[in-house]
Amino acid sequence: MRKCIGFDTYVPGKSIEEVKELYGLERVVKLASNENPYGASPRALEVLRSFTDLHRYPNPEYRELRERLEEYTGWDAERIVVGAGIDGILETIFTMLIDEGDEVLIPTPTFQYYGILARLHCAKEIKVQRRADFQIPENILDFLSERTKLVIIPFPNNPTGNIEDPKLVKEIAESTKGIVFIDEAYIEFSDLNLDLDLENVIIARTMSKAFGLANLRIGYARLPEWLVKYYRSASTPFPVSTLAEKVAIASLEDIEWMKECVRKIRSERERIFRELRKFVNVYPSQANFVFFKSREGLADELLKKGVIIRDCRSFEVSGYRVTIGKPEENDFFLEKLRELL
Ligand code: PMP
Repeated sequence: MRKCIGFDTYVPGKSIEEVKELYGLERVVKLASNENPYGASPRALEVLRSFTDLHRYPNPEYRELRERLEEYTGWDAERIVVGAGIDGILETIFTMLIDEGDEVLIPTPTFQYYGILARLHCAKEIKVQRRADFQIPENILDFLSERTKLVIIPFPNNPTGNIEDPKLVKEIAESTKGIVFIDEAYIEFSDLNLDLDLENVIIARTMSKAFGLANLRIGYARLPEWLVKYYRSASTPFPVSTLAEKVAIASLEDIEWMKECVRKIRSERERIFRELRKFVNVYPSQANFVFFKSREGLADELLKKGVIIRDCRSFEVSGYRVTIGKPEENDFFLEKLRELL
């Protein structure tokens, strides 16, 4: 085994079937993995059903997908890379960048996979504690050093749903020779789009959330031009299947579907926030979930009643994250929560 191989695997949300069987329940609602409850665009599903070329390898250029992403984002297609979700892109970035002992700055609490990758690559994980409102503190600048290779900034953050002050993000990027990785997994749900384009800034996005394609594993990123050839040399040759590419293209052609999902989710997010505020300590969110604090063990109690939410201890914070579902799923969650609190 490699020196830094460990056993801290990613903890996924429980599945509906698992919980139904465990507690003998008829109705289980899953609000634990930040998925789009409305699913993928019907046009994307049609393309999925009609695909037959399973015996062919993909074209590793992914030109058509990158061109569609250029139209969607306004980014130059030549600087866009695609991968197996943001997870896959992050993995390639770590392979490309990190030597043993390099420092990776991770404002904490946050998405666990960043830390898992840092440890796996024998990096020195520098956790910068977020403020009480979960914003990145200005003293993050004091943590930058000659060995800083990577600074990871989710925008919005998971599990807390907040975004950062764009001025601070820019200042961080201008203060380091390392790469600043901005993770915009939830950007479609946010009011603010951080369009920072510097020679050491990577912005990554995904089709897992707003586009409802989590199971197809499609992520993409804009790299500074000079970095693209290094990225390609560190990536697996065929990170995305042609099936996934074609479904992604169909989804991008049906932007209205995605926008409508986002509109409904944002409106429900505000309703849940208002309702939760009546009986727990809830935080404003720019994503498709909300974070709140309440008594210990609440996620297990809700599980027994058929509601799967996320206990955030594995994110190194005490509290809970609930994904915004369809209105009837959210009602079910609120009803069960009221019974308990
Ligand atoms: N970044 C953040 C902040 C996330 O919450 C997630 C999903 N849990 C990911 C990246 C991974 O997304 P993908 O499905 O694109 O790998």
